[in-house]
Amino acid sequence: MSTVAIVGAGPAGLKTAAHLAKEGIDVTVLEEHEKVGEPCNCSGLISVEGAKKADLPLDDCLIGKITGAKLFAPNNAMLVVQRNTAVAKVVDRAKLDQLLAKEAQKFGANIRSKSRLIDIRNETLFLESSGRGEILKSKIVVGADGPSSKVRNLMGIEAGMNDFIHSYQVRAEGVFDPNFVELYFGGFAVNFFAWVVPESKSVAKVGLGCKTGLNPKNQFEAFLKAKQMELYDRFEEKSFLIPCRKPLNSLVAQNKLLVGDAAFQTKATTGGGIVTSSLAGKLAAETIREHLFEKKKLENYNKKLDWLNKELNMHWKIHNYYTKLNDNQVNKLFEKAKKAKVEELLSDYGNMDFPTQFIPKLVSNPRVIFFLPDVLQFWRS
Ligand SMILES: Cc1cc2nc3c(=O)[nH]c(=O)nc-3n(C[C@H](O)[C@H](O)[C@H](O)COP(=O)(O)OP(=O)(O)OC[C@H]3O[C@@H](n4cnc5c(N)ncnc54)[C@H](O)[C@@H]3O)c2cc1C
Repeated sequence: MSTVAIVGAGPAGLKTAAHLAKEGIDVTVLEEHEKVGEPCNCSGLISVEGAKKADLPLDDCLIGKITGAKLFAPNNAMLVVQRNTAVAKVVDRAKLDQLLAKEAQKFGANIRSKSRLIDIRNETLFLESSGRGEILKSKIVVGADGPSSKVRNLMGIEAGMNDFIHSYQVRAEGVFDPNFVELYFGGFAVNFFAWVVPESKSVAKVGLGCKTGLNPKNQFEAFLKAKQMELYDRFEEKSFLIPCRKPLNSLVAQNKLLVGDAAFQTKATTGGGIVTSSLAGKLAAETIREHLFEKKKLENYNKKLDWLNKELNMHWKIHNYYTKLNDNQVNKLFEKAKKAKVEELLSDYGNMDFPTQFIPKLVSNPRVIFFLPDVLQFWRS
């Protein structure tokens, strides 16, 4: 018998586990794969500010430092956003997850690999463990089992294909700027964008996200062709779903609750979810502790998420606004942004995790008069 069973050993599950174990709560993490962090489906880009807030040990799995981003319009017009110091870091994502697992274990969490959740009936979990059926009893179950969450499904929360972006990513050799992330917008990446996240001058994660129903690998090839980008060698080819929708109203049902990608706590603008998942994990653990020790309701988790949902809603609003624009409109938007010196504003105030900190500053800036119709359209989206 376990007090809390957490399904999934990604950042959401491991952070929840560490916070619970620190409080002396008996917690078991179930991971279907053999090794935590593998296989890895991530670019490993994490903002410095977000990592600090979420207490993520970036420097122990550091690959590179990023000082800015280059954004490319469909017609190749470019906006550059940059700072003097690192705004984000590129990490070895598998190693990050392994460090988070070590931290959780240090506090007493039990992490079981090769243990896949099959079903839940009240406090009984049915597992497939190293190829054999097994039963685990647990008072509370946390679904931290990623985009195609089984726990979410068992809670009766439906997710359609339109709630996801389909991604394709390779790690590749080529010629890259190690200080800048590159984002490419255009018809090849319908509803999303293509990216280059450098690890060094010669290696980068290069990928693309697009609406489901399209073949992301084909769209990726179209992107490389359109941008005449040459990749010398490709390895670690991956295709994966990225959750992309408005935050769910309720993430609790009976003794189950959801965290991370399973809960759609992913930023709809960038698809990033390591920081938001880790922050939500802390709130989930706090809720469970109060439930066990103070008999408070698990439903309080929904309320605790208010501030994070405000940020996720803003990401959703930006995503929604962008997806309604065609390539010509995106080109015009870049042109207006250049004229209004939005690069400077974004360099000063921009924040890749917490947009409510800068969007009001941006849209109320007198320079943004160039954008007035766009601003109105944005608020209506
Ligand atoms: C191509 C790509 C690039 C990305 N790049 C970035 C980035 O640069 N920065 C960023 O912040 N985010 C990025 N993300 C998003 C980020 O990877 C996720 O938001 C993050 O991993 C969410 O963490 P999680 O713990 O909720 O889920 P996951 O990390 O997906 O962990 C879920 C775990 O649950 C396990 N599991 C699933 N089902 C079961 C089951 N039935 N039983 C037992 N275990 C199970 C899985 O094996 C997995 O280990 C990227 C995503 C993609 C697809």
